[in-house]
Formats: sequence, C-alpha cells, structure tokens
Amino acid sequence: MNCEIIGVGTELLLGDILNTDAQYLARELAAMGIGLHYQQVVGDNPQRMRECISNALERSELVILTGGLGPTADDLTKEICCEVMGEELVLDEAILENIRSYFVSRGRAMSENNRKQAYVPKNGTVFRNANGTAPGCAVEKDGKVAIMLPGPPRELKPMFENEVKPYLSEKTGGIIYSRQVRTFGIGESDMASRVADLLEGENPTVAPYAKDGEALLRVTAKAQTKQQAEEMCDRIIGKISERIGEFIYSTDGANLEETVVRLLLKNGKKLALAESCTGGYIAKRITDVVGSSAVFEYGIVSYSNEVKQRLLGVSTETFEMYTEVSEQCAAEMAQGAKQLSNADFALSVTGISGPGGGSEDKPVGLSYIGFAYPGGVTVKELRTGKKENAREYNRYVAASTALHMLIEYFKGREG
Ligand code: ATP
Ligand code: MG
Repeated sequence: MNCEIIGVGTELLLGDILNTDAQYLARELAAMGIGLHYQQVVGDNPQRMRECISNALERSELVILTGGLGPTADDLTKEICCEVMGEELVLDEAILENIRSYFVSRGRAMSENNRKQAYVPKNGTVFRNANGTAPGCAVEKDGKVAIMLPGPPRELKPMFENEVKPYLSEKTGGIIYSRQVRTFGIGESDMASRVADLLEGENPTVAPYAKDGEALLRVTAKAQTKQQAEEMCDRIIGKISERIGEFIYSTDGANLEETVVRLLLKNGKKLALAESCTGGYIAKRITDVVGSSAVFEYGIVSYSNEVKQRLLGVSTETFEMYTEVSEQCAAEMAQGAKQLSNADFALSVTGISGPGGGSEDKPVGLSYIGFAYPGGVTVKELRTGKKENAREYNRYVAASTALHMLIEYFKGREG
C-alpha cells in the first residue's frame, strides 16, 4: 500500500508551526511497512485543497490528511475531501451528543459551530477523539482510502495509535505490533552499525532514530495474531540485546524518568536532588511520572554558591580550588542532598549550559553529575560539545545523564 500525507493549514505554510504531525506519521507508517511516497502541505484554501487531494488520490492508494477538522469556517478538510471523493456528509446524533457532553464536562456550553464536527462521511469509518471534539474519519472509494485526522498532535497521536492502526492493520492483513528499544550512552550511528544486518529485515522491521540525546530502535512485526507478532519482536530484541545490551535501559517504551521511578518503587528506595544548571529539570521529569511521590523526597535548585554552601555543605576550599563547576562540587552537592534527607540516593548537577559562561578548559556543555548512594559517591563528567542554541539541549542531556546513573547503579546490582 503506497501512501501520501497532506498537511492542511495556512499556519504550516507561514512557518508558524512545524509539521510535526507529518514527522510522526512518517515514522509510524515506515514502522508499519506502509510506503510513504509523497508529502504535501496546503493552506486553508478550498481550490488548492481540491487540487492537492485529487492529485494525491490519483497517485496514492492511501491519503492521510491532518488538520482542518475544527469547528471554524476555515476548517474545511472533511468538506473538501468528501466533495472530491463524491461522499455525502451526514449528521451523527451520537457524535453530536458526545461533543455536547465534552463541553458539559468542562463546565462550558457547546457553541453552534461545533455542530459541524458531528457531520461524518455517510459510508465512512469514524475515529473517536479521546482528547478533543473533532472525530477523525476514513472514506473508501474506488480502491482508494482517505483518512482525516485532527491537527493538534495531542489529539492526532492517540487517535492514530488506538483507532487508525487497527483500521490499517485490517487493510494490510494481520496485526501490526511494535516495541521500542531505548538506549543511553551510545550514538545513533554507532548503534545502527552494530545492528546493521538487523536493519535490513522486512518483518520485523528495525528502524533506528535519535531523540534528545538518546538512540532508539523501533521494532515492528506483522503477523496474524498479536501473540505471534510479540514473539517475533521478542526474538529480534533478544538479538539486539546481544549486541548492545549494555546500553539498553528499556524495551517497553519506558523513558529514563519512568524507568528510574519504576526501579525506586521496586526496590523501595527514595531519591533527593540538588540541581544547579538544570534548574529543577530532573525534578520536573521525575514528577512527570505518576507514582513518583512514593520515591521522590525533594529537589533543591541550588543555583547560587551560597546555597550550595549553606544548605548542601559544599566547602569553601572546593569553590576556591576547583570552582562550582567541578567534580568535587558535584560530589559534595550529592552527598549534602543525601544527608539532608531520608533519601537513599541523591543526584546532583553543576555545569555550564550556555550560551555564555564557558572558557577554554570549562566549555559550554560541560557538566559534572554527582550520584550519592549508600556507602559512596561517584561523579560523571559530561561534555556535550554543543554551543549554539544549546541551553535547552545541554540541560536536558545533563538531566538524562543523571537519571541514567541511577539506572546503571541498579543494573549493576540486578545482574
Ligand atoms: P482544531 O479543532 O484545534 O481547530 P484542527 O483539526 O482544525 O483542530 P488545525 O486548525 O489545522 O486543526 O490546527 C490546530 C492546531 O493544531 C494548530 O494551531 C497547531 O497547533 C496544531 N497542528 C495543526 N497541524 C499540525 C501539524 N501538521 N503538525 C503539528 N501541529 C499541527
Ligand atoms: Mg482548526
């Protein structure tokens, strides 16, 4: 099945928003083994939308449109696509009721133009929207399929995952099941070269990608039953583990903070934090995880040296001899944070996020990450090498490195 994506929205053409829906869909389609041959972007202009959709339907079996399903007058995707395909739109009372109750549950009244969203293709398939009002839909005509999805990524992604994938699985015959292998501490190209032969496979497919300083592999299998597909994935993940097992920290999609919280819960341990350049980023990521209250004691954002000294007990000699961006300071911060609390572990970060503040021997992107555990403390030096527009990246990766130190600790102990 060959596919094409059409991003609808003048704001995409103006560069006001980035077409992340297309990126997400492209990745998902590749993982499902559906060939994506074209991507188009078109503004909210009826005539140009008609042309775009007609062209796409001529050359592609599956056309996925994103955006323009909202209630306002410039949201025209459904209307134009159905017109081009000769499909009638009809009011669905049940969907109208859903939309109404969506507003009621938020203490608001539904406005009249939301009625528009309750019109669905007469002979089409409707995709439920668990995170908004606009349902998605699919229309099939003359061997072609058009799928229309809402633009906001937080609506589009769960709809694709939960509604569209099963719909497409039926079309492509069988179940499509995928798993994510997440690694830390290895670059994407190094990882890819170690598993190069596995990337050639057609079923399951193995696709590498990099995200926020991590290298990931997506393993996707097609089979008649979910169990068969799972077994196929397991087998490949076993092979991947033989090659790069030391870098793998999860094979079920859990991210670093989820893995950390899971490990702490499982082992009945608690964590404290002392963050300088990350400004609470680790605390934010830990507390993003449901259930973290059982394992997270507190985080201090010890930005000034005075606080590092007064609260965490970093010594004057450390500042004088090594400065606050040093292995010694990170170690004392972690030990101080651990001692201040009932926590079993403490992580600390001190570094230079940029853009300013770097020097020859202490460049932007340099961080020291401390980890205090029962009976000791260790420090890692991180050099991201990133200087331009790097503040966010440097802070994120420093936080990730800290989280990963805790995972490594448990990995060493669990064998
Ligand atoms: P709404 O009901 O919010 O109007 P919609 O389906 O009509 O949803 P649009 O009006 O096209 O979608 O876009 C709404 C918002 O969704 C945009 O402002 C943008 O934040 C996001 N969005 C739309 N298209 C994309 C895209 N291709 N990639 C990423 N985000 C997008
Ligand atoms: Mg809209």
